[in-house]
Amino acid sequence: MSDTSKLANVRTGTRIVGAGRRKKWTGPVVNPPVWRASTHLYESTAALAEGPRRNEDGRFFYGRRGAPTQWALSDALTQLEPGAAGTVLYPSGVAAISGVLLTVLKPGDVLLISDNAYDPSRAMGKGLLSDFGIEPRFFDPLDLAAYEEAFCDRTAAVLLEAPGSLSMEMCDVPAMASIAREKGAISVLDNTWAGPLGFPALEKGIDITLMALTKHVGGHSDVMMGSASAGPELYARMRQRAQQLGTVVSPDDAALALRGLRTLNLRLKQETDSALSIAEWLSQREEVAQVLCPMLPGAPGHELWKRDFSGGCGLFSFVFKGGTPADRNRFVDALELFGIGFSWGGFESLALPIEPSAYRSCMTWPPKPGETEDRFGVRLSIGLEDPADLIADIEQAMAAWHVA
Ligand SMILES: *Cc1c(COP(=O)(O)O)cnc(C)c1O
Repeated sequence: MSDTSKLANVRTGTRIVGAGRRKKWTGPVVNPPVWRASTHLYESTAALAEGPRRNEDGRFFYGRRGAPTQWALSDALTQLEPGAAGTVLYPSGVAAISGVLLTVLKPGDVLLISDNAYDPSRAMGKGLLSDFGIEPRFFDPLDLAAYEEAFCDRTAAVLLEAPGSLSMEMCDVPAMASIAREKGAISVLDNTWAGPLGFPALEKGIDITLMALTKHVGGHSDVMMGSASAGPELYARMRQRAQQLGTVVSPDDAALALRGLRTLNLRLKQETDSALSIAEWLSQREEVAQVLCPMLPGAPGHELWKRDFSGGCGLFSFVFKGGTPADRNRFVDALELFGIGFSWGGFESLALPIEPSAYRSCMTWPPKPGETEDRFGVRLSIGLEDPADLIADIEQAMAAWHVA
């Protein structure tokens, strides 16, 4: 069946070029064409009657189950995720989170949520899921004993994220996945930061790994999409629930995401190198109290990152030494090569003023308690510009921070 079987023993850089490229979907060209389709036509009424009985991957049925453009993308993502039986695509990263949680939870269940999870995930726990009778409980992912104690007989799932949103704390994901398994709960990881190239989550014991493809896989700030991958049983359940919820992605967007995916490995390497040199430079500056970048030796979480991750990306934060929100905002406004925006993972650099304490129930901000005057942070998403230019830009913007 597969002309991608030759990818079985190749390295990641090779796999990412060939993944999902099946001849029956591409024909004689390199990329699968954009199959725009709601209606799928049948040869006869007999074939039509057969349609609903066979609900399997790669089978034409009706637009809501996708067509070769979407199938090629999910197949490619599955081939990049060791241990995955399949990948469900969702119209955004947030739709992936809700799609997964509505698969594994039912009324009466408790969901444990990492206190430093992406804010819309926290809001989903307190809003959508609470409305459906599911109880969210937040825990500090840096306190393994408290995490273990947080389980009760109603805990059906845990939602983890590493590193944490905005504040970038690194937790012990393999240990937390294994505790969840012992307690009979399903572990879900929002792996948008490292993705499967930097952290093969299922191999590390996670049950369901999800990503906002909007960020690095799309990579060009022009598409919104999400994905979730798992082993056979959970994949089948997620796929069925996505069909019930009616979530579907457009073939045009799937083609954009596939195009982004082909260069993901190179972009992540470049971004990681640039982010490291910028983080290192920032850590030497007198204006900076802390650089929150687990890839940086000596930074919080670096030892866990080094132990568990094989890669990272260009996203990290730093905290100013003292100052005011206005000082910090003047710095961000003075940047010329960085856009100001919520997203990240694109080819262009972005800066975002951050106030994580508004999104925490039990973790402290700033990360070094006691030094409360050092609390005004900035998150940087480092893109593909020359890092020397980005450093020069940050240096000139620091002059605006100094102005009283
Ligand atoms: C952006 C983001 C999401 C959501 O993705 P959208 O496509 O914007 O819905 C989920 N998780 C993390 C960690 C993100 O940064």
